[in-house]
Amino acid sequence: MNATNSIIAQADPGAGYRAQQAEIDAAVARALASGWYILGKEGEAFEQEFAAWLGTSRAVGCANGTDALALILRGLGIGPGCTVATVSHTAVATVAAIEMAGATPLLLDIDPDTYTMDPDELAAVLEDPPPGLPPIRAAIAVHLYGQACDLGPMLAACERAGVVLIEDCAQAHGATLGGRKLGTLGRAAAFSLYPTKNLGALGDGGVLATDDFELAERIGAIRQYGWRERYVSSLVGVNSRLDEIQAAILRVKLPRLDDGNARRQAIAAAYDAALAGGPLSPPARRADAGHVFHQYVLRSPDRAAMQSRLRADGVGTGIHYPVPVHQQSAYEGRIALGPAGCAETARASQEVFSLPMYPELTDEQVERICGALRNLAG
Ligand SMILES: *Cc1c(COP(=O)(O)O)cnc(C)c1O
Repeated sequence: MNATNSIIAQADPGAGYRAQQAEIDAAVARALASGWYILGKEGEAFEQEFAAWLGTSRAVGCANGTDALALILRGLGIGPGCTVATVSHTAVATVAAIEMAGATPLLLDIDPDTYTMDPDELAAVLEDPPPGLPPIRAAIAVHLYGQACDLGPMLAACERAGVVLIEDCAQAHGATLGGRKLGTLGRAAAFSLYPTKNLGALGDGGVLATDDFELAERIGAIRQYGWRERYVSSLVGVNSRLDEIQAAILRVKLPRLDDGNARRQAIAAAYDAALAGGPLSPPARRADAGHVFHQYVLRSPDRAAMQSRLRADGVGTGIHYPVPVHQQSAYEGRIALGPAGCAETARASQEVFSLPMYPELTDEQVERICGALRNLAG
């Protein structure tokens, strides 16, 4: 296909592989030749390297980001008889993880500018819990699209109520708040390593991080049948392990993560400039946050028209997410919402769309996308 009339994909995990192909192939060959495929040297080294990069004392690899959240809840003893507050405007995985752990989700509305949890609504439900629900034991802060939640007031409200704050960093590897890395501010943090994430494996993977040694040790056992000693379960566990091939690949990709995030930020700045004077506003940035642009998200009441005009100019777009979790048929009618309802969530799901965003976009592709954005003004 000719580069000038092909569609630029909204996501392209294959480009991430090709950018480091020789090193990744060598790492895979090394893992294959080792003769050890599950929970071995590569996984341990990745856990240490990830914890060192993040700045926590411990990291624990697991099978995916959903499991990372569920393992944190299990490790904290949060399950049946507990409510966990989070948002409906997120990957369904956040809510699925709460139910996997046996807990009851409570879904709160978002701030419409940053698409992250409304901290006032969290404070309100912690002070005056909705009737008919088990006690709220945890809140999951989802740093959506690569930008921090308004974590200061959320942490303060959780502290007042004696509730644990867990960070869902599946879209926020390397993002900061007040100069500190997300994933170091709550009790524990879950990261997805799905191929399209800012740090992506070439298959499924997840990692969780905490400064709580005992919690990390407990989760390290729970992820493998509750074993502390081989074949003997001292805890009720699950099977959720990061394999050696993915760990070896992630060790090649982790040293490039900060550069990849810087490239995402440069692409975002180019999009911002191209939108000036047009009908769409650039995504809002929190003043004290370092946004890592897992997604570059625009919103418009004329979303379908905007997407088709961009497509006509060769620009693929995506929607994150088209249906709020509480309106999906698996959840509708049985999931509790906060007292404010989820009106902003419902409105955002009708209007948001995401531009192509990955470090491997070439300057020429970025310029074509910027041209298409400038055309929206005409
Ligand atoms: C991707 C994602 C997850 C789940 O990760 P998986 O690795 O796909 O299980 C959880 N939360 C959010 C916000 C995500 O974007």
